[in-house]
Amino acid sequence: MPIPSPQVRGRLLRVLAALGVWMAAAGPARADRAPNILFIFADDLTCQALSCYDDERRLLDTPNIDRLAREGMRFDRCLVTNSICGPSRATILTGKYSHKNGFYNNANCRFDGSQPTFPKMLQAAGWQTAIVGKWHLVSDPTGFDHWQVLPGQGIYYNPPMLTPAGKEVQRGYVTDVITDLSIRWLRQRDPDRPFLLMAQHKAPHREWAPAVRHLGWDGDRPHAEPATLFDDFAGRSRAVAEHDMGLDRTFTRLDAKLRAPPGIEGDDLAAWNAYYAPRNAAFEAAAPAGAELVRWRYQRYMHDYLACVKAVDESVGRLLDELDDQGIADETVVVLSSDQGFFLGEHGWFDKRWIFEESLRAPLLVRWPGLTPPGSTCGKIVSLVDFAPTFLALARLPLPADLQGRALQPLLAGDTAADWRTSLYYRYYEFPAPHHVRPHRGVVTDRHKLVHYEGDLDEWELLDREADPHETRSFHDDPAYADTRRALEAELERLAREVDDLGPVPREAYGDAPFPAAAAGGR
Ligand code: CA
Repeated sequence: MPIPSPQVRGRLLRVLAALGVWMAAAGPARADRAPNILFIFADDLTCQALSCYDDERRLLDTPNIDRLAREGMRFDRCLVTNSICGPSRATILTGKYSHKNGFYNNANCRFDGSQPTFPKMLQAAGWQTAIVGKWHLVSDPTGFDHWQVLPGQGIYYNPPMLTPAGKEVQRGYVTDVITDLSIRWLRQRDPDRPFLLMAQHKAPHREWAPAVRHLGWDGDRPHAEPATLFDDFAGRSRAVAEHDMGLDRTFTRLDAKLRAPPGIEGDDLAAWNAYYAPRNAAFEAAAPAGAELVRWRYQRYMHDYLACVKAVDESVGRLLDELDDQGIADETVVVLSSDQGFFLGEHGWFDKRWIFEESLRAPLLVRWPGLTPPGSTCGKIVSLVDFAPTFLALARLPLPADLQGRALQPLLAGDTAADWRTSLYYRYYEFPAPHHVRPHRGVVTDRHKLVHYEGDLDEWELLDREADPHETRSFHDDPAYADTRRALEAELERLAREVDDLGPVPREAYGDAPFPAAAAGGR
């Protein structure tokens, strides 16, 4: 049988994908099997830090991550369902919202590893499955032939890692360690079976400790400040002003690198001190206060956070090179994403949790040879809840009826997918520690958000990203928005029914402390 041209094959594969049929994107030798999956995941990596997302501040060049965008598809609105680490990871594994997979918060939840997950289903279908790096779901990983994970949050320098055999300290910088161990696994796998490798970084999670090779990467040049660095929180719910995640109030000495991170020692510690000690001495001598202190902290935060992203970018480059060196780039789907976005000084904040755009939106890049048009973008609302159905469809496995997401294949093929969702349901629980972000739920559309802060506060916000891109005021009580508000209220109720979030919220969903009484009955 003649081999079709790449163009004809590409079209054929895209049509098959749109029909939910898997394909091998490789040449004829591999045409009998599904592609491999390399899932590169970062923690708290936000679009503003990536040059392929073309942020107005142009904070950092990320050439290797940009390569993925250039060779694949960039999703501009990949939204999370509950903007915090563990819950996002549980949602990715299960394809379900927090109230269905049972992992609501980082405070007191433990992932029930006996429930169905997409790695388990791939493993049962004969795939090699591995996870290396940050897991953060308390219970041991299930569904993986190989796992080597950080305990809890992990540390940046010389991190202990857990395997089924026990705990062992890995020497080096955590992003490099995870990359090395991922590559080691890729080299010893069975080449005759498809694989799923989840390479999951700790970086750039707090406390944003850079590799020593990246200290001073910015030459002490100032980083552009966000427009809302000094947000006064007027015109919105009291919930926003009650936050405890500001550069002005919550930034610790460890965050500021006024003390060294755990685990660092020897030559690394000497290099660390050579960089920070004179700068810290100048800071202590100047003793800035008020707005000047916030500005100093913002600059220190950006130096450190972006340095961590530089190491993640280098990791992506090394992993892509490894696929090239093994000759498997054309038969491996590469996905890069994060468990949420992050505030880089917007509203004066670091951290995440809120339904606001910076923390709601995660980066998502997919390079699927033969399916994703190179250099393409997609503006549809997709979500972490779509990952499991996408990977199951890739493997031509049946999609369980209780999955709450949808396979991305039609969008990845460049199809307009006219029936794609135009709104998404969001719900955040953890309160009050550690950042005093009120539990809230809401509906998100291309333009608007309707947000309800639960419990005794019982306040609403209506945001309009077109009229107010930085989300600094609520239009909820504006008579001009009355029709919009009613439509969003109806959509929120429709979505709550659709995702079956109608029952009372378990008391422990909010964390260890009692939640203000009005929330006790649920919505
Ligand atoms: Ca996170």
